[in-house]
Amino acid sequence: MSTSGAESVPEADAAESLARAARAGIHRLELPTPFLVGRVNCWLIQDEPLTLVDTGPNSGSSLDALERALAEHSVAVEDLELIVLTHQHMDHVGLLEIVARRSGAEVAAFAPLAGWLAAHPASAAQDDAYAQDVMRNHGVPEELITVLGAVAAAFRAYGSRGEVTRPLGDADRLTLRDRSFEVLHRPGHSPSDTVLFDEQRGIMIAGDHLLAHISSNPVVTRPLTDPGPDAARPRPLIDYIASMRATSELPARLVLPGHGDPITDHPALIAERLRLHDRRARKILRIIEPGPISAHDIATRMWGNVAVTQAFLTLSEVLGHVDILLAEGAVTQLSEQDGVIRFAAA
Ligand SMILES: [Zn+2]
Repeated sequence: MSTSGAESVPEADAAESLARAARAGIHRLELPTPFLVGRVNCWLIQDEPLTLVDTGPNSGSSLDALERALAEHSVAVEDLELIVLTHQHMDHVGLLEIVARRSGAEVAAFAPLAGWLAAHPASAAQDDAYAQDVMRNHGVPEELITVLGAVAAAFRAYGSRGEVTRPLGDADRLTLRDRSFEVLHRPGHSPSDTVLFDEQRGIMIAGDHLLAHISSNPVVTRPLTDPGPDAARPRPLIDYIASMRATSELPARLVLPGHGDPITDHPALIAERLRLHDRRARKILRIIEPGPISAHDIATRMWGNVAVTQAFLTLSEVLGHVDILLAEGAVTQLSEQDGVIRFAAA
């Protein structure tokens, strides 16, 4: 959950990877965000239609940076003809309404995201209410839920509503004049994660599905299509691990992520992520073994004060690993009288 790390590819490799992308007509536009993750990568594809993958967050400084970055490639916002979204997070979609209106570009996104974008910010408010219920069920103190709710409501302004004119499904093709992408749904980090794979060039545009410098958070998120009141809680880490295994099989030579530098050996990175999640699941099992414990208390044991300031992300991280342990039969879920769910060794 930090933005720096020793795993970053050396700068020379990053420059060479970005040059390879540029030779394929794909240019990184780095925009500022107000979030812990730092800058976000949008990708300009010089092709027909002229395409922008992701827009950056809804802020004046981000729009300014986008205009300057486009200008370096002799492009104006008004010239864009297609906007493709990798997933629903506001650091990726926040400028959608402004950029789509000024350019008149088509908007392509994972089909179930269309209703969510059309209903923003109400849909984001529903996501936040859902997150608050999850926190309440898993032992986060009520005062903390209230504070985090206020923070989330303030951040919603960085998001955007939008109209999807080109709904995409898993295994669809997105064909431009000079290239064709296979569209692949890769849920886990969010329910809408979508990657674009140009198998001819071995280039994948991956959004936050894979990041070189940090492990993507599998965030517990309200499903995009209403699963009904009795549906089980989503299991984002289990989804994410399945998504990573599927991506590992693809013969990509260059993966262009939503943050940080390109990835040139994604099977090695995925193997490392899978080991990390396995180690973390074993560590959480050791914390559960002495007796029933809530997910929030596990998060506090794991991360101390970060489990307070980042209560929902750390809770999502714990629940993801607990889901693995539940699926293995190593732990069981107890429903206690105070309404807080606790976990115990099986
Ligand atoms: Zn994201």
